[in-house]
Amino acid sequence: MTTHNIVSVSGGKDSTATLLVAIAQDTPNLQAVFADTGNEHGLTYEYLDYLQQATGVSITRVQADFTRQIAGKRKFIETKWREQGVSEAVVLAALEVLEPTGNPFLDLCLWKGRFPSRKAQFCTMELKRDPMLEQVVMPLMGNGDMIISWQGVRADESITRRYLPECDEVGGGLFNYRPILKWDIPAVFEAHRYMGIKPNPLYSQGMARVGCMPCINCRKDELREIALRFPEVIDRIDRWERITQQASKCGAATFFAGSNAKHPKGSIANMSATEVMEIASIRQAVEWSKTARGGIQYDLMIATDITACSSAYGLCDSYQGHSEAKEAA
Ligand code: SF4
Repeated sequence: MTTHNIVSVSGGKDSTATLLVAIAQDTPNLQAVFADTGNEHGLTYEYLDYLQQATGVSITRVQADFTRQIAGKRKFIETKWREQGVSEAVVLAALEVLEPTGNPFLDLCLWKGRFPSRKAQFCTMELKRDPMLEQVVMPLMGNGDMIISWQGVRADESITRRYLPECDEVGGGLFNYRPILKWDIPAVFEAHRYMGIKPNPLYSQGMARVGCMPCINCRKDELREIALRFPEVIDRIDRWERITQQASKCGAATFFAGSNAKHPKGSIANMSATEVMEIASIRQAVEWSKTARGGIQYDLMIATDITACSSAYGLCDSYQGHSEAKEAA
């Protein structure tokens, strides 16, 4: 029986520390896997190249592919939307943009006709968990081998993670292992220092976390930093909003506007598509991010110190300890 050790890396501090633990323990059959969402900063891709070269551990890149789902959506629009009486202009506009772009994040939004939100956070599963399972883990299953999935999860990141076990069995020879579960942030950066590995440079450039840029759970202060330092990211999301808007039956799709978005004018659920895009677009969110506390009173985004993704998988880097992370990096 062979034991396969698979570490999920995001380019963030926790998953890198997890990989470093595996290396320090001379773990056999070690493989690192990175799920590329297509919404990462260029520095993260460079960092992964550096990490691979510096550690000597090969990092397998996987990507979700939504070609089949988008083809299905096209058929659905051609038939069901028309049967439902959706206007021909909306049908034709959606069909015009509903083609796979090859960017997983954008293709996911095109397929869904919307962006993910905190209440409908399908991005982590669709863009990270499923491609890793389908392309790396599942092909190894069924041979009687043991597969250990190393996850960079820390108990102090969220309530969900607080009570996770250090190890649990999924079935079919697959086990989850969380070696840094009890670590704090200084320990994470100490592991980098001890192993002579630099942290992702985004931590020293005002970023509270590494992963999607921006994350749909982006904090107000981080959005302000992104807009200031990386305006091209905002331009890209602006383009994605326009394309996704066109693929949406309601004609509106904004990066941050979850179903619970509030505004002095009322719930966005009661607004026209044009009104929603006027008040809740990425450009509007950036303007809001520049306001002081008590500025424009609308709450499109998560502005608290919660983690980006509180799932048990640890596939998205967390926000916690922003100042500590910046100092340590
Ligand atoms: S980093 Fe944020 S946007 Fe990206 S997959 Fe995770 S939760 Fe979704």
